[in-house]
Amino acid sequence: MHRIAIVGGGTGGTVLANRLADELQSELEAGEVDLTLITADPNHVYKPTFLYVPFGKKTVDDAKRPIDELVDRRVDLTIGRVIDIDTDRQKLAFADSSVLGYDQLVLATGANLEPEAVPGLADGGHHFYGPEGAERLRDELAEFTEGHLVLSVVGVPHMCPAAPVEFTLMVDDWLREQGRREDVEITYTYPINRAHGLESIADWATDLFEERDVTLETFFNVEEIDPDNEVIETVEGTELDYDLLVAIPPHAGSDLVIDAGLGDDGWVDVDKHTLEATAAENVYAIGDVADVPTSKAGSVAHYEAGVVADRIASRARGTVPTATYDGKTVCFLEAGMDEATFIEFTYGEEPYVREPSKPLHWAKLGYNESYWLTARGLL
Ligand SMILES: Cc1cc2nc3c(=O)[nH]c(=O)nc-3n(C[C@H](O)[C@H](O)[C@H](O)COP(=O)(O)OP(=O)(O)OC[C@H]3O[C@@H](n4cnc5c(N)ncnc54)[C@H](O)[C@@H]3O)c2cc1C
Repeated sequence: MHRIAIVGGGTGGTVLANRLADELQSELEAGEVDLTLITADPNHVYKPTFLYVPFGKKTVDDAKRPIDELVDRRVDLTIGRVIDIDTDRQKLAFADSSVLGYDQLVLATGANLEPEAVPGLADGGHHFYGPEGAERLRDELAEFTEGHLVLSVVGVPHMCPAAPVEFTLMVDDWLREQGRREDVEITYTYPINRAHGLESIADWATDLFEERDVTLETFFNVEEIDPDNEVIETVEGTELDYDLLVAIPPHAGSDLVIDAGLGDDGWVDVDKHTLEATAAENVYAIGDVADVPTSKAGSVAHYEAGVVADRIASRARGTVPTATYDGKTVCFLEAGMDEATFIEFTYGEEPYVREPSKPLHWAKLGYNESYWLTARGLL
């Protein structure tokens, strides 16, 4: 029996489990392969929905579906938290002391938010990167009629590098619709010398910020927040006052990864094409937890899942894996409340940013709805 274990039932793990159930259908039915998906949360969460929650366009419940409704019945689904990985003995340990052996393992445990890493941030900052944060921000925005709104990207890397730019363009448009924009000053801050890690998106966002009267602050590395006086202090020695701070908190990988010796900083060190861990045999990583030189994005997790499904299926059948990942990343970017653009790129490529349009906005909304078919492996 060839045992395949996937840890994490988010975008990457769910797409992968369903792909493998299809690719290894005959081996699973013959009892030659066992496929297990272990995930801590009984709900699958589609995080891109959170971008719309602060504007009252979606609810947190819209982002969730029970994972057992999404996963193929040929997959053994275990709801539980893996607390230790022994890559020498090829075993996973659970909180209830049970153990699971594997022949091939995939880590798809995502990224964690760490607002407490910056003094004052948990008290002084809002965000839309998780369910509670998005709801609190919605309530705060509903009451925000005047003052200085600061969108600050505090830590990189973070999930969906485009989302802070999208939020800024959306909040500008939304406040205009509400007739409140004239009384609200908007500032966007980013840690490096431009508005985004990718130059073409940075240039695009800079032009739009100028057009829409959004102040851009670059080389802005947040050191501390003073929530009582509503001041951001930076490593560069500057200070910025705010009335409403929307801060993308620092992200962290997983202690599981560090303890297993798979990556010093919690992200799994992998070969960027094969997605195989560099520090252990028969271990792969996909999605946000994999340290590859592209965005931490659901589209990346999705394409990586396809590649890893092919490689694992080949190994399970005793053939040499040939599929590789070229860094393919696609992303729809909202440019306001009813216009969006679309980019696609591979490793080392600079994306071309299309003119924003209404059809691209509808395409983004349509993609978000059809995501539930994608997760099931139907698209
Ligand atoms: C506001 C926002 C907007 C976004 N917009 C976009 C977008 O437009 N396009 C896009 O492509 N991406 C977008 N993203 C990013 C996208 O959501 C993530 O990149 C994607 O979810 C990563 O998938 P993943 O499988 O790596 O991790 P996740 O989807 O985060 O799943 C990780 C899973 O692992 C489980 N887990 C963790 N640790 C353990 C453990 N020890 N044991 C068992 N289970 C465990 C968790 O419970 C979870 O189910 C956005 C993200 C945010 C926050």
